[in-house]
Amino acid sequence: MSKRDYYEVLGIAKNASEDEIKKAYRKLAIKYHPDKNPDDKSAEDKFKEAAEAYEVLSSPEKKQRYDQFGHAGVGGASGGGYGGGGMNMEDIFSQFGDIFGDGGFFGGRGRSGGGRRVNRGTNLRVKVKLNLQEVANGAEKKLKVPKMVSCNTCSGSGAKGGAYESCRVCNGHGVVTRVTQTILGAMQTQSTCSACHGDGRIIKDKCNTCHGDGVVRGEELITINIPAGVADGMQLSMSGKGNAAVRGGVNGDLIIAIEEEEHPELKRDGANLFYDCYINFIDATLGTSIEVPLVEGKAKIKIDPGTQSGKVLRLKGKGVPEINSYGKGDMLVNINVWTPQTLSSDEKKILEQLRASKNFQPNPNRKEKGFFERMKEYFE
Ligand SMILES: [Zn+2]
Ligand SMILES: [Zn+2]
Repeated sequence: MSKRDYYEVLGIAKNASEDEIKKAYRKLAIKYHPDKNPDDKSAEDKFKEAAEAYEVLSSPEKKQRYDQFGHAGVGGASGGGYGGGGMNMEDIFSQFGDIFGDGGFFGGRGRSGGGRRVNRGTNLRVKVKLNLQEVANGAEKKLKVPKMVSCNTCSGSGAKGGAYESCRVCNGHGVVTRVTQTILGAMQTQSTCSACHGDGRIIKDKCNTCHGDGVVRGEELITINIPAGVADGMQLSMSGKGNAAVRGGVNGDLIIAIEEEEHPELKRDGANLFYDCYINFIDATLGTSIEVPLVEGKAKIKIDPGTQSGKVLRLKGKGVPEINSYGKGDMLVNINVWTPQTLSSDEKKILEQLRASKNFQPNPNRKEKGFFERMKEYFE
C-alpha cells in the first residue's frame, strides 16, 4: 500500500497557507475522531492519515523536504507505520493542544486519560524565620532538609537491576475495565488495578536497599532564595524539592512557611514601618533634632518648635519593599511628648510659675490634624 499525497489527504492546494492547512486538518480530525466513530477501523485510519499529513505540512522544515523529495524526504517511503514510526494515538492527541486550544475538544486529550498512574512524592513543609533586615533585603537560606530521596542502588526504580514485568492483571495499563450487565444495558467501569496499585508494573526482584520503594530516608542541602517583602504566614513553594516519589515518579514540592521575628523597636504593617518616639516637652516647645532607628542604621530628624504630641512624621521610602513590585513603603514616626512623672521641688516651683501663663494653655483652634484625620490619611 502506497501513501496518499499529504495535500490530497487534507484536500488542499500545494500553495495552501498555514491557516488553511490547520483548518483543513481540524475539519478531518473532528470528522474521523475515534470518539465519534467507535469501532470503525477505516475512520481510525483516516484519522491517523490526516494527523500524519498535518504533522508534516504544519512544519515549514518538513513541508519543504516533503515538497522536494516526497514521502522519502520525511521518513518512510511507503506503507507500514507512520512517518517512519512517528505518530501513535498519544502523539496525535497531544498535538491537539495547538489545533483546538487546551482542553477545547472532546474534553481535552480525549481518550488518552485513565491510563497508568504516575507516582507523586508528598510535599514537605519547612519553617524559615526571618528578621526585619532579611525581610527588607531578601535572604538566601541554606537548609538541610530531611526527606525521602531516590535510592542510589536501583536509581529509584525499586527493582534489582531495574527489572520490571508488565502487570499481568491489567496488561500494564494500571486500570482494569469491568463490564457488568444492568437493566439499562452493559455498563463499563474502570478501577485502579489492585495487583500493581495502578503502576502497571510489577517488580521481579526487589532492591535490597529500599525494599522495592525506590526511595530511602536522606537529606538534601537546599538553598532557598527569599524575595524582599515577604510577611509572616506567607508560603513559598519550590517545585520538585519535596519528597521523592515511590518507584521513580514526580517529586513533591517544598513549601516554605515564613515566620517573622519581631523587631525590638520597629513595628511593621505591610510595607510601612512604625516607630513610637518620646521627646520631652521642652524639646517639643523649643525644637530639636532626634535620631530614629531604621532597618539599617539611623536617621536624624528635625523636630520643629511647637511640635504637638501625636504628630506623625513620614520618612518616604524608609519602609520595606513591596513584594512583587518595585515600590517601597514609608517609615512613620509617631511623636509623643513625655509628661514628667517625678519632679524635684525646684522644678516644681519653676513650673508653678509657668502654669498660669497664657502661652501654656491648650489652643482650641489649633491647626494640627487630630487623631481621626491622621488615621484617615494613613489608611487612604
Ligand atoms: Zn533501591
Ligand atoms: Zn496491574
